[in-house]
Amino acid sequence: MKKILFIGAVLSTIFLSAQTQLVAHRGFWKTNPNTAQNSIESLKNAQKLKVYGSELDVRMSKGGVLVVNHDEHINGVEVSETLFKDLKIEKLSNGEQIPTFESYLKQGKKSKIVKLIVELKPAKNPELENELVAKALKMVSDKKMQNRVEYISFSLNICKEIKKKNPKAIVQYLAGDQSPSEIKNLGIDGIDYHFNVFLEKQPTWLEEAKNLGLITNVWTVNDVAVYQKLVEMGVGFVTTDIPNELLKY
Ligand code: MG
Repeated sequence: MKKILFIGAVLSTIFLSAQTQLVAHRGFWKTNPNTAQNSIESLKNAQKLKVYGSELDVRMSKGGVLVVNHDEHINGVEVSETLFKDLKIEKLSNGEQIPTFESYLKQGKKSKIVKLIVELKPAKNPELENELVAKALKMVSDKKMQNRVEYISFSLNICKEIKKKNPKAIVQYLAGDQSPSEIKNLGIDGIDYHFNVFLEKQPTWLEEAKNLGLITNVWTVNDVAVYQKLVEMGVGFVTTDIPNELLKY
């Protein structure tokens, strides 16, 4: 009996780990009507869908306040060159104030299911990137959200700095220019690459990454056929603007 239970446990672990999970890209904003990307509302929508994670983009204002915005500019104002007191006047397309990272964490904590996939955006120099990392990690730790947050970045420096400061943090690299073994050797946990890297440019990398025990993630998949192909190939996570559609498959 014990043996049967053990085999059952092993099989269910394999089955669960083989399931591709969804990450809502900049929250779930592609609703009807659309809401703003990276808004608190888009995070709430992702939480309602109960997907694995909701992705967000984090930048640092002049003076060191962390805000959630994809672009370096909001309504023509440059985030890194503007004090937060001036930045907070800027509105998203849905009328929300530009969210702080802190307000995002606060809303993120309300779901026990949906993780925050925090993209730390490259900054103008490594010193600013390291400051961004230090501030983000401290805020997550102060809010006791370490187990609710994973990190992604296009900056290899940012990925390495996160692992240096908190080896337990889960970190995935985005730029698609490092092989799975290079990422493994750097102590980074996974690769989150454009789907064309896995499907066309480097067709062996997905399998290599899985064999090395790396997390595998792809962005940004908004096509059902591409999604199904990647699921067949056994990718761990798919980042998408249409999580509601892909949940049906
Ligand atoms: Mg992003």
